[in-house]
Amino acid sequence: MRYGVFSDVHANLEAMTAVLDALRREDIDEYIFLGDIVGYGADPAACLHRLRDLMSEKKCYCLAGNHDSAVCGLTDPAGFNAFAREAVRWTRKQLPARDIEWLKARPLTAGRADWAAVHGSLWEPQRWHYITGLTDARSHLERQQARVSFVGHSHHAWIISCREKAQWAGKTEESLEPGARYVVNDGSVGQPRDGDPRASYAVYDDGARRVELKRVDYDIELAQRKIREAGLPSFLAGRLTSGI
Ligand code: ZN
Repeated sequence: MRYGVFSDVHANLEAMTAVLDALRREDIDEYIFLGDIVGYGADPAACLHRLRDLMSEKKCYCLAGNHDSAVCGLTDPAGFNAFAREAVRWTRKQLPARDIEWLKARPLTAGRADWAAVHGSLWEPQRWHYITGLTDARSHLERQQARVSFVGHSHHAWIISCREKAQWAGKTEESLEPGARYVVNDGSVGQPRDGDPRASYAVYDDGARRVELKRVDYDIELAQRKIREAGLPSFLAGRLTSGI
């Protein structure tokens, strides 16, 4: 089975379109979406509908992220920064009640025997912790039974392997060795923060025991123009150029 793994679209329709087009060429059997379809960008409704269309085409595990949870009222955005809070307020006004209800119904985790998926961390999915390094990864791995887990949330793409102890693994791809476990952050489709502004996603092949982190170019300028025209904070547009 080949899985297309993506997350943190953040209402960036141009980036989402580029990633879904790229995944369509990857012979994907099932999709895993790790949350944050909305927040920051100018196209929350269009992105949400693209995700629902994808779910009607193929099996797509579709999780909640912290921005999704804040927009539908399940998470208090008080802990968000000012730009994110403003984006939450703006996004709420763009979505009809049925889309808000759909966001409310998203689960926090998903998985099968060989993989687990969560937006933030497996140790407290509802608290939206970030895995920023090996110490956080160890807490996460204590809860991880499966060979590989997929996380998003930090918008940094990386792979951590764990045999006796957790360590950084291949930067863009990794063969999954028997007896080892892995944590894979798929980066962000719509607002990368790891210095590469291209949209990020991952492909997991359970038969070939291989995971790959991939990037694709998209029309950044168009996404930026829409953010500014929508009256969202221009900082949210500007940061897409640098991917930081
Ligand atoms: Zn995010």
